[in-house]
Amino acid sequence: MSGIRMEGLTRRFGSVAAVDDVWLDVADGEFLVLLGPSGCGKSTLLRMIAGLLEPSGGRVLLDGADITHVPPQRRDLAMVFQSYALYPHLSVARNIGFPLRARGLSKAEIRARVGEVATMLGLTDLLDRRPRELSGGQRQRVALGRALVRDPGAFLMDEPLSNLDAALRTTTRAEIVELHRRLAATVVYVTHDQVEAMTMATRIVLLNEGRVEQVGAPAEVYDEPASVFVAGFLGSPAMNLIDAVVRADGAVHGCDLELPLGLDAGVPERPVTLGVRPEHLVTTPLERAGLRGVVTAVENLGGEEVAHCLVGAARVGLRGPRPLGLRPGDRVGLTAAPEHLHLFDPDSGRRLAWQPAAASTNA
Ligand code: ATP
Repeated sequence: MSGIRMEGLTRRFGSVAAVDDVWLDVADGEFLVLLGPSGCGKSTLLRMIAGLLEPSGGRVLLDGADITHVPPQRRDLAMVFQSYALYPHLSVARNIGFPLRARGLSKAEIRARVGEVATMLGLTDLLDRRPRELSGGQRQRVALGRALVRDPGAFLMDEPLSNLDAALRTTTRAEIVELHRRLAATVVYVTHDQVEAMTMATRIVLLNEGRVEQVGAPAEVYDEPASVFVAGFLGSPAMNLIDAVVRADGAVHGCDLELPLGLDAGVPERPVTLGVRPEHLVTTPLERAGLRGVVTAVENLGGEEVAHCLVGAARVGLRGPRPLGLRPGDRVGLTAAPEHLHLFDPDSGRRLAWQPAAASTNA
């Protein structure tokens, strides 16, 4: 398997930079997920790595060799698309074997290699069928098989699961993770689905308007989002973000909001965006609460419930085991531990470094 390097990759469409100066290293054997909302440039970036789109600037390197201007078929990369892109008139076996026929391998070699890949993907009994005789999940496995059979330096996958229903998406997701582990394959995987990103990635790249917003292991981007954008993209519901002010008393203040940050008194005052995840809020008696609000709706998620509340003018979500014991119209007191509070600069949206008093005394 191979490592991929992107050096200042840029792609403009007219005056719009769909991808803007992206520098990334994908290590050999890594499962790198490009994550972000629709239009943030994920597919454009992947297509430049694949060679399907010419960059406006920058370079792509595969194992240190500059492949920026190498045609796609001569790059040692295999691409898996959302649409499967199978040949409808060819059997499963011939679809999987297609890249090998194009390479001129003998019939016996092709049969052996197709057999191996079909066993790996549980497709052995389906080799004589046409794509229209397969389920969506089976078709996507054939598309994966066609990529695997080439034994490429790396796999590029563009939303490969998005045409599958929820149950199939979960099982196919697990199959891809297992394949990645067995093959120690290098994978660059595009999705807008945060659950796919969190469960599959060794590292996540959050893209926002063509630029890298944060790169990190799933736990890192979830636990320490680098910006309001990342905080608001990950989580279900996403992190609550509230306009507030840090005061000299070492607490964060807002409308119906006063939460100690665990900071020593005497800190410089400043406006902030306060972030707190719905699962880190807990109910508490109103007189002791850091946030006081009114419940507007309660959603039953099965094992858990989400209560939507209004705290001042801010919409705040609370998530916890069912039943939360709340109903629309209830006055509710909430609180959160200092280690679960995130502060962001309201102008730049970037995370602010701050040190809880307890942690700094221990240091
Ligand atoms: P999605 O998840 O919806 O596929 P994406 O993150 O993959 O989105 P891209 O498809 O890479 O986003 O598009 C990034 C930006 O570039 C968008 O604003 C899109 O409209 C623009 N764009 C993409 N391809 C072209 C094109 N061929 N011509 C003009 N603009 C384009």
